[in-house]
Amino acid sequence: MPKRSTSSVKQLQKDAQSYIWHPFTQMQEWEQQPPLLIGRGKGTFLYDIDGNAYLDGTSSIWVNLHGHRHPTIDRAIRHQLTQVAHSTLLGLSHPLAIQLAKALIKIAPKGLKKVFFSDNGSTAIEIALKMAIQYWQQCPSPQPRKTQFIHLGLAYHGDTVGGMSLSGIESFQKPFSSLLFPGRQQVDAPYCYRCPLTLQFPECQMECLTPLKTLLQEKHEEIAGVIVEPMVQGVAGLIPSPPGYLQRLYELCREYQVLFIADEVATGFGRTGRMFACEHETVSPDIMAIAKGMTGGYLPLAATLTTEKIYAAFLGMPHEGKTFFHGHSYTGNPLGCAAALANLSIFKTERTLTKVQQRTPKLSAFLKTLAADPWVGDIRQCGYMVGIELVRHQENKEPFSLMDRIGHRVAIAARALGLLTRPIGNTMILMPPLSATLQELKQMVGILKVAISIVRASKNAS
Ligand SMILES: *Cc1c(COP(=O)(O)O)cnc(C)c1O
Repeated sequence: MPKRSTSSVKQLQKDAQSYIWHPFTQMQEWEQQPPLLIGRGKGTFLYDIDGNAYLDGTSSIWVNLHGHRHPTIDRAIRHQLTQVAHSTLLGLSHPLAIQLAKALIKIAPKGLKKVFFSDNGSTAIEIALKMAIQYWQQCPSPQPRKTQFIHLGLAYHGDTVGGMSLSGIESFQKPFSSLLFPGRQQVDAPYCYRCPLTLQFPECQMECLTPLKTLLQEKHEEIAGVIVEPMVQGVAGLIPSPPGYLQRLYELCREYQVLFIADEVATGFGRTGRMFACEHETVSPDIMAIAKGMTGGYLPLAATLTTEKIYAAFLGMPHEGKTFFHGHSYTGNPLGCAAALANLSIFKTERTLTKVQQRTPKLSAFLKTLAADPWVGDIRQCGYMVGIELVRHQENKEPFSLMDRIGHRVAIAARALGLLTRPIGNTMILMPPLSATLQELKQMVGILKVAISIVRASKNAS
């Protein structure tokens, strides 16, 4: 790629400040320094427009699986471009959507039989919620009072109003309190790291589930479903649930006849070492939302999967009004489906899951080298999802003030050393592409280690 002239880079950076409002970004802070402009990617690396290399430690915000510019996905999209870029699923179908739906059902947890396509995680969640509500109105013995949802504390289910209503992160919701669902119920998530009982499995009796049980006992007639990020809460700061928790939660849903809704948007497609996180504890969701890794990180595509039973409740004559009135313009986009099918094929040809399973303990070992750092309060990991919580004092885990912007400062220092990460508060998040080599994983952790010590040195000096 010919190098851009300094003046054209300057102009781009100026225009970047002039025209773009970035997601989840305080623009006042952002405008203080010129943005890093990514020009291309290859494998685990992204390159800025000057050609400097960066390890993609966020998998381009949790979506990339097999690396950038993977020949199989590139080829699949190019081929589809010779056929058609987009055609609708409203009133028509196309071969790739059909093949993909069939392939997804084949790998999905048991019982999921139907695929409803959309185009991002938030819409996949919105669809799950609407499906659940309408299901209870139309199922063979209707229970229209079931209109509420239970979610966990610090949950994150997307930024549309439904997903946001069932998220537990206050700062995301605050300005929109007037819009939030009535009757949404929050129960605390398991947080072993802060658990006063600090019992190990199997002594741990999961008392953290008691509030959920009580709520279900009292209110199950009004509860449509429980929504959960299986095995690990991502945006919460990478918080894994204790072994057996998901299974127990699932059993409670069955016991009290509420739908079990799995948000696999982040955990799906191998992130946790299984194709879907629900498999770790062999639970079969009634509804499952998938998105992020679905196209290997190439194109926006999502889906909401459900059971034959839920699907059947929507069948009837057109005039009966049982139709599911929901759809998006780019639902099941053919280019996205081509990428998604290629993505799945790579799981086979490259034995992605086996490799992730083999490398996960090695990644843990690399992470252990951070444990001695006086700022590292906790290292949490579930497969290739890692959270490293930075604290003021390791002994009492006293947190940094958010005003210290420690996570942000460490990320900036890491970037200068060639690693892109995006922290959540003062928790550093490492979310490597599943294809990252051991060498690359080691390098990522090594850079983080140096970045933390650089920021500590500058803080101590100031
Ligand atoms: C990212 C995410 C979403 C939202 O997906 P988008 O594609 O960003 O709308 C929903 N749930 C979870 C668990 C996520 O991590």
